Amino acid sequence: MRTTELFAPTLREVPAEAEVISHQLLLRAGFIRRDAAGIYTYLPLAIRVLKKISQIIREEMDRQGGQELLMPIIQPAELWQESGRWDVYGPELFRLRDRHDREFALGPTHEEIITALVRGEVNSYKQLPLLLYQIQNKYRDERRPRFGLLRGREFIMKDLYSFDRDNEGLQVSYMKMHEAYTRVFRRCGLRFRPVEADSGAIGGSDTHEFMVLADSGEASVLFCENGECEYAANVEKAAPACATADSGEDQKPLGEVLTPGSHTVEEVAEFLRMPPHKIIKTLLYETEKEVVAALVRGDRDVNEIKLSNALTCLRLKLAGPDTVRDVTGAMVGFAGPVNLKGVKIVADPEVAAMVNAVCGANMDDTHLTNVNPVRDFTTDIVCDIRMVRAGEPCPRCGGALLEAKGIEVGQIFKLGDKYSKVLGAFFRDESGQSRPVIMGCYGIGVTRTMAAAIEQNNDKDGIIWPAAIAPYHAVVVPVSTKDESQMAMAEDVYGRLVGAGIEAMFDDRPERAGVKFKDADLIGYPLRITIGTKAITNNQVEIRVRRTGEVMIIPVDELDKYVMELLGRL
Ligand code: ATP
Ligand code: MG
Repeated sequence: MRTTELFAPTLREVPAEAEVISHQLLLRAGFIRRDAAGIYTYLPLAIRVLKKISQIIREEMDRQGGQELLMPIIQPAELWQESGRWDVYGPELFRLRDRHDREFALGPTHEEIITALVRGEVNSYKQLPLLLYQIQNKYRDERRPRFGLLRGREFIMKDLYSFDRDNEGLQVSYMKMHEAYTRVFRRCGLRFRPVEADSGAIGGSDTHEFMVLADSGEASVLFCENGECEYAANVEKAAPACATADSGEDQKPLGEVLTPGSHTVEEVAEFLRMPPHKIIKTLLYETEKEVVAALVRGDRDVNEIKLSNALTCLRLKLAGPDTVRDVTGAMVGFAGPVNLKGVKIVADPEVAAMVNAVCGANMDDTHLTNVNPVRDFTTDIVCDIRMVRAGEPCPRCGGALLEAKGIEVGQIFKLGDKYSKVLGAFFRDESGQSRPVIMGCYGIGVTRTMAAAIEQNNDKDGIIWPAAIAPYHAVVVPVSTKDESQMAMAEDVYGRLVGAGIEAMFDDRPERAGVKFKDADLIGYPLRITIGTKAITNNQVEIRVRRTGEVMIIPVDELDKYVMELLGRL
C-alpha cells in the first residue's frame, strides 16, 4: 500500500472529548471516526488490526475445537421473554419494533439465540460436547459510553458458548477456553492477568476476567506479590485471609456514652480515643425486599457486590436519612445492631469475632460501649461482605496483596443449566434420561482489545503496535521524494518486502522527511525503513525500531532477512 492512496486522515489536534490515550491516538492517527456517542466507523488501518486480532482469536478457538457460526444481530423479544431477561436487562437493551409492531432487541449477547438453536438440534449425548462461536457486532445502550472503543454502544465481540453433558464436561470446556484466552492475549503482545471475578447473585459458578494491566483501566485488580502464587482477583471478588485471632479479652458490661456530633467512625474513634477497628460500622441498605443492616469493622468498607450476593437481591442502595430515622429512631451516624428491630442483620466474620466493641445506640448523639456479638445482638447472616485492600495478606499464601488497574478484555463464565432449563435445551443421556445441557459462555471484546493494546503500548509520539496486530509491519520512507534515485531505490525496497510477505507501507508523499517520520511514529508501524543518501552510495538502508528507537544500517540485499528476524522479536 502507498500512503498517497491510503485513507487514513490524521489529525494534528487532540479532540477535546477524548479522555484516554487510546481514544486520542485512534482519532489522531486516522483509525476511527465517531458517528454518535459510543458508535464509530472503523477506517482501513483499524480494520487491518481488528482482522488480525480476530484471526488470532479464530485460530485459538479452532485449536480447542470451536466451530464458527454467525447468529443474527436482531433477536425476537419472545426468546428474551422466555429466558426472563426481557424485563431484567433494563435500559441497556436496545429495543425496536418491526412494521407489524413485533418487538425485537439488538443483541447485547447471544445466550438466548444459541440455546434456542441447540434445543432444536441437539437431543442426544452423542452430539455433545459442542463449542460454537461467532465474531460479531454487539449492542449495549451503556449508561456512560466513553473512552472511545473501550466502552462503546456498538462494539465487536467474539462470543463462544460451550454445551456439555455434565459439570465435568463443563470444567474441561472452561479450562480449554482459559488456555485459549491466555494464548490469544499473549499472541496479541499484551501484558494481562486472568483474575477471579464475581459471578453475581445467581449461581456461585466460576468466572475469570482477563485484564490488560493499564492505568486507565476501570477495574481494580488485587494480586499476590509472590510471583509463584498466582492469586489474582477483581477487587469486587477478592477474598480476605482468615479472620483475626481471638484477642482473649474478657467481656465487659454493656455501657452507653454520649458522643455529640460524632457521626463518622473517624469522629467516634477520636472522641472515644480508641482505634477504628474496635468500632462496628453499621450501614443501612434498602433492597427490593427489605431493609438491611450491614456490619463491618470500623476500618473496613462494605463490598456492595458481596452484600447483594449474600442477600440474593437485584437492587441494593444505601438507605436515605428518612428510612434510617424510621428504622433506628436516630439520625444517620448512630445506627447499631443492638435492639435493632425489623431489620435483617448481616455481619462480616470480623465483626462476629469482636469483643467489647463500640457501636451506634440508635439514639441521637449516643454510642454503646463493650458491645459483644451474640450476647448483645443476633445476626441473620455472617459472611464475608467487606472490601479487601492492597497490603492485606493473600488468602492463598499470606504474601502481601498488590493493586493494579485493569481493562477487562475477556471473561469466561460457567452458566451451568441456567439457560438450558428455562429455554428447554434438554438431551437424552446414555440411560435415556432427559437432562439439561450444561453451558458456559466466553467473550472477548475485539474492539476493546485493540484500544487496550494502545493503552499499554504508546509514547508521546504515538502508538507502538505489537508486531502481531500492527496494521502494517514496516513503512518505507524515502528521505527526499525529489531525488529520483532514492525514489527508485525505495520502490525496489518496497517491492522486495512485499515479495517476502512483509506487510509494507510505502510513504511516497512529496512531504518533508520530518513530516513522514512523525506520521510513522503516530501510526505506530513497528519498523521504519529509511532510504537516504547512503542507500544510493553504499547500497545500505536504515531500519529504526519504533519501540526502542534502535537504529541499524543494513545492506539492502539482507533487508528482508533482518526485517523478518526483528518482527519475530516485536
Ligand atoms: P463491563 O463490565 O466492562 O461492562 P461486561 O462484563 O458487561 O463488561 P461481558 O458481558 O463479559 O462484558 O462481555 C464480554 C467482553 O466484551 C468484555 O470482556 C469486554 O471485552 C467486551 N465489552 C463489554 N462491553 C463492552 C463495551 N461497552 N464496549 C466495548 N467492549 C465491551
Ligand atoms: Mg464481563
